[in-house]
Amino acid sequence: TVTVVGSANLDTTLRVARIPGPGETILASGIVRSPGGKGANQAVGAARSGGAEVAFVAALGHDGEADLLLASLTGAGVGTDHVRRLDGVPSGSALITVSDDAENSIVVVPGANAVLLDLTDGELAVVRSAAVVLACLEIPMATVLAAARAARRFVLNAAPSAPLPDELWPHLDVLVVNEHEARDLTGEAQVDDAVAVLSRRVPALVVTLGAAGALVVEDGLRTHVRGNPVTAVDTTGAGDCFCGVLAARLAAGDDLVTATRWGGAAGALAVQRPGAADAMPTTADVATLVEG
Ligand code: ADP
Repeated sequence: TVTVVGSANLDTTLRVARIPGPGETILASGIVRSPGGKGANQAVGAARSGGAEVAFVAALGHDGEADLLLASLTGAGVGTDHVRRLDGVPSGSALITVSDDAENSIVVVPGANAVLLDLTDGELAVVRSAAVVLACLEIPMATVLAAARAARRFVLNAAPSAPLPDELWPHLDVLVVNEHEARDLTGEAQVDDAVAVLSRRVPALVVTLGAAGALVVEDGLRTHVRGNPVTAVDTTGAGDCFCGVLAARLAAGDDLVTATRWGGAAGALAVQRPGAADAMPTTADVATLVEG
């Protein structure tokens, strides 16, 4: 099984001709609400696209957003017994404005995600029992650290970029970052230099390279997993799907390079459809691409 400890947000996307400036009022041509948040996307990726049994540890409010998010998670086969419902705090949400020239501006309301603190005995038990635990940085760092300490095998997607506390590093079994995050984490200007620094600090490193695939560094060995050539229409959530499937395949016993191939195939299928969780492929479709 895979336990995902992470965030859940309801995304509201507004289509506009251009991003409004300060003090300006403009009209949107459309509004779409869709389930999101890195943690929820990763949990859906692991279950729907990776075929894993998934437990999700997260926090939501008591609002309509929470109901929509829970329905999406349950529909994807994610176990929601450990999703907290909190009073007096809204569910996490993101207001996304996308302009005709594909610029975006995003305001995130962390809401309940920010108070996912002090993991309970039940939450720690589901972390301890998982073959693989996957976390991201949209929840408090103290909670990431608590999950890392309790996990048998801990995969961290260090996104969005944030400095990692020294005491977290020894608990990282696999670190997954994109090129920006690799540079941010190390302060190196060149991705190659960032990879060299990071691969000395963690036993296994995966750097996602968008259309170019991903780089795996394990035991001093570098492997480039080639990208799958596709026409991308919406890359939202592709990295999350990648991470979820990678965790699912590691839990199933695959080696890291094989798990990365699966994650990459899932990411490539996800970018061909609009949306995040809603765009994620089935495990059978991913298997066909990996094995085909
Ligand atoms: P993030 O969205 O976190 O920045 P990436 O853009 O690196 O992450 O995408 C994650 C993974 O999704 C990639 O490693 C790749 O497997 C897949 N992917 C993303 N964009 C494309 C694309 N344009 N074509 C094919 N695969 C893609």
